Amino acid sequence: DGLPRFRNFPPSDFTVPAEREAFPASIARLRAAMGQQVPLYINGQDVVTDDTLDSYNPANPAEVIGSVCQAGVAEVDAAVEAAREAYLSWRDVLPEERAGILLKAAAHLKANIHDMAALQVLEVGKQWDQAQADVGEAIDFLEYYAREMIRLGKPRRMGRAPGEMSHLFYQGKGVAAVIAPWNFPMAISVGMVSAAIVCGNPVVYKPAGASSCVGRAIVDMWKAAGLPNGVFNYCPGRGSVMGDHLVDHPDVAVIAFTGSMEVGLRIQERAAVVQPGQQQCKRVIAEMGGKNATIIDDDADLDEAVLGVLYSAFGFQGQKCSACSRVIVLDAIYDRFVGRLTRAAKSIRLGPSENPANYMGPVVDKGAQENVLRYVRIAEEEGRVLVKRNVSDDLKATGGCYVPLTIVENITKEHRIAQEEVFGPVLAVMRAKDMDEALDIANSTRFALTGAVYSRSPHNLERASREFRVGNLYLNKHSVGALERHAFGGFKMSGVGSKSGGPDYLLQFMDPRIVCENT
Ligand code: GLU
Repeated sequence: DGLPRFRNFPPSDFTVPAEREAFPASIARLRAAMGQQVPLYINGQDVVTDDTLDSYNPANPAEVIGSVCQAGVAEVDAAVEAAREAYLSWRDVLPEERAGILLKAAAHLKANIHDMAALQVLEVGKQWDQAQADVGEAIDFLEYYAREMIRLGKPRRMGRAPGEMSHLFYQGKGVAAVIAPWNFPMAISVGMVSAAIVCGNPVVYKPAGASSCVGRAIVDMWKAAGLPNGVFNYCPGRGSVMGDHLVDHPDVAVIAFTGSMEVGLRIQERAAVVQPGQQQCKRVIAEMGGKNATIIDDDADLDEAVLGVLYSAFGFQGQKCSACSRVIVLDAIYDRFVGRLTRAAKSIRLGPSENPANYMGPVVDKGAQENVLRYVRIAEEEGRVLVKRNVSDDLKATGGCYVPLTIVENITKEHRIAQEEVFGPVLAVMRAKDMDEALDIANSTRFALTGAVYSRSPHNLERASREFRVGNLYLNKHSVGALERHAFGGFKMSGVGSKSGGPDYLLQFMDPRIVCENT
């Protein structure tokens, strides 16, 4: 195919003055132009609705990023209809041609990476480096799925029986509904959307309310790439108004979802019900929650382990399904590790993510703030508080969506704080007498997404590889920030077991067909 081999987009280097200076310049430029009405985009046309929802800066809720038009049932119907119409031609566009559009989309993101990342800092409160990495991951998805489609797009000869010629090839399933989260506002959206599209499935895309302006930037990306009208439809809306309607729609063939377990299970249940007029079984691809653990063995390198746990638990305020929310520490090293972790957590700076000196910023919105505060109270009741740190009173007075960085110990597997996903900066410390008990605790939740082990013992690392049963396990490495070469996703209640950015992912969006000719 002549394409260079896939490579992960490199992380930005803010020690280079040009990179460092470009970022605040992008923030300032965006700030000067924001607060405007954001229309839907259906069948290549902007669509304005009466109902709008403001997306705001979580560090300063008075600052409106965009006033986002909200799709109701009628707009969802129009978007599905446009996608259904577009499917009839898009499914037969050659795989390499569809892949070529993804590569052009990747080029657009590369050329605009600072603006795309800066928008995330303002809209969801992501730190600079992580916002940049999010756009980098979106680029990786586009580059990787383009290559995957070229690989899968070649018809495969089956068998060698004399007098017969059989070929297997794939066809897109139909209209895809993509329901995306706000925490990796560009990466996860672009990942699900581009996978659907490159396989031949037009998309009705519902971004999360809190990141709808980043979602709208994906419209510009596809326009720049020359995607035909109707293949990508941007349909933000209130879940309570249009979420079920989209999932239930008889013309939707695939639903790709990333978000909470509750919503994921609801989608699977509803998608199983056949609606009047429905012509096909719906396929649900769901990536859901985590209650991820990091095990600290008694011979762990603590310099690495403390930084790894800190980053996994509190990077982007713990709002990742991959975040570490339980650290399981072996008895023999408990006091040393916990003492160091506590001191480190007390030393980091808290405040708006716009200032890169701050390690931890606000959570995404007021709803998230309330939810996390509820769990902080549960953690306080169930355990003994080691750290509870908030931003200064001055910053609190700005009304930003801050929550305290919280670490509690004396947590055992029965506690709620050891079982329920918080999606915020709340870390439970659990003690284990040996590796047997540590693994037992690690596996004691209904989730199976990520995990990490810090150990110098080859035997224990090897054992953990088998017995720490999660989708993505990291040895002597933090548990967040999977790159495409890792392929990300979990099983049990963490999802249906699919791996985004992995070699099996695209197959879920297509039906295999065989043509067998008597020769
Ligand atoms: N892929 C992300 C990571 O490895 C997590 C995705 C999510 O939070 O949904 O950190």
